[in-house]
Amino acid sequence: MKGPNNHEDLHFLLLPFMASGHMLPMSNIAILLARRGASVTLITTPLNAARLRPTLSPHQPLISLVALPFPPAPDSGLPDGCESFDALPSRDHEPAFFRATEALLAPTLHHLRARCHAPPSCVIADALLPWARKVAREFRAPRLVFHGYAFFATLCLHNLVAHGALARVGGGHERVVVPGMPHVVEITEEQLQVDARLEDLWEARETADGVIVNSFEELEHEYLDIYREATGKNVWVIGPVSLPNNPPNTIDRGREASPDELGCLDWLNQREPKSVIYVSFGSIGRLSPPQTAELARTLEASGYNFMWVIKGGGRLPEEFKEEPITESRMVVHGWAPQVAILSHRAVGGFITHCGWNSTLEGVSAGVPMVAWPLFAEQFFNEKLVVDVLRIGVRIGVERLSGWAGEGVGVVGVEAIERVLEEVMDGGKEGVLRRMRARELGEMARKAMDVGGSSYVNMTRLIDYVSENRSVKDDGA
Ligand code: UDP
Repeated sequence: MKGPNNHEDLHFLLLPFMASGHMLPMSNIAILLARRGASVTLITTPLNAARLRPTLSPHQPLISLVALPFPPAPDSGLPDGCESFDALPSRDHEPAFFRATEALLAPTLHHLRARCHAPPSCVIADALLPWARKVAREFRAPRLVFHGYAFFATLCLHNLVAHGALARVGGGHERVVVPGMPHVVEITEEQLQVDARLEDLWEARETADGVIVNSFEELEHEYLDIYREATGKNVWVIGPVSLPNNPPNTIDRGREASPDELGCLDWLNQREPKSVIYVSFGSIGRLSPPQTAELARTLEASGYNFMWVIKGGGRLPEEFKEEPITESRMVVHGWAPQVAILSHRAVGGFITHCGWNSTLEGVSAGVPMVAWPLFAEQFFNEKLVVDVLRIGVRIGVERLSGWAGEGVGVVGVEAIERVLEEVMDGGKEGVLRRMRARELGEMARKAMDVGGSSYVNMTRLIDYVSENRSVKDDGA
């Protein structure tokens, strides 16, 4: 009989979308599969491959990282060297970026036909790469879709489309109740990015053989049960895939900066337990210049220690530029080792834009959060964290502001002071919030342990592929 980690006959093809929030969880999935003894080919472009190489190369030969050329700059309409969504100068470049990703279909097929050691037994593709369907079809392999959302957000979006309610959200400013949810969830047009891509995500999921979710059953079982019952679809919940020790070397997540270079962990080592607020808006998000200035002023005057990771310039006070590191503050420009930071004992609160990876990393670290949604499906994540899990407080923004925080009012000093106090102290409710956060963090870790729910789901996923691969090989 085959052992649980002996699957070298299985070959998973992973096709991640080129954005940090999509590549990182996919590379962690690659490692989790390799740890079960399966072989994995992860296809991406040269610059993305260079970022992932340090994390993935220790897992050679089971994982092969393949870099296929991205369409060159003048033809693609993208700036030179722009191979990642988070490197786009503005959202106006989005259509060109999506077109450029489509150009990867032909070289992917060519690589698999001519150069790959074995045909894929299974294709795991990001929902934003609809052409993956053609790859799976050619090799008659099951196609599983990964779209990197929380299942709560997935179900909300699924129900909005399935019940024909999406048009209502797109058509007015009033609150629309999301149909088919086990409790009231309301959303407004201003909180949901309704565009053609939502339909693509729906299509990719509905036509796939199954869905892979970076979450854990205990966190979202209510929503998973509803979806499974309504659609009969296979859903494998296999996260959190980026626990600090799982995989072990996620500290720099394949980026240039290491914690030692930045000194983040050294700085945290010298702070009291639970005394630091960690502030980050993900790989793309930023606040408007006036909002950056307001947050800086309030954090500085709050008396709490804080570490703020900033993308782009913003409008930081002169003293932050002159002296980014003091006793009470650390301002980091560039890429920080977020998973390691969040799980550091000095961190007591997390101001987040509610990107799902960051949110789940906050949950896994057992850290209460300030929810400050900016774009995409982040308002659903805010609702999950604040209203359902009750481990966060909302900053109170009412509408999406896009990557650059444009077009919304400035959250003022009083509102920011209130949430800082609630998350870092908050009296009795604060104690309960921290307790709930800690318990969820425990559950997250257990889910990934041998025998935990996500571990078992990964076994089921591998078994499914084993069985369905042979059905397809038999010509079914
Ligand atoms: N991240 C990081 N360091 C940074 C910024 C981001 O490690 O300085 C990681 C973060 O831990 C998360 C991912 O990048 O895993 C961002 O994904 P998320 O879904 O939170 O937000 P997005 O960047 O897609 O908006």
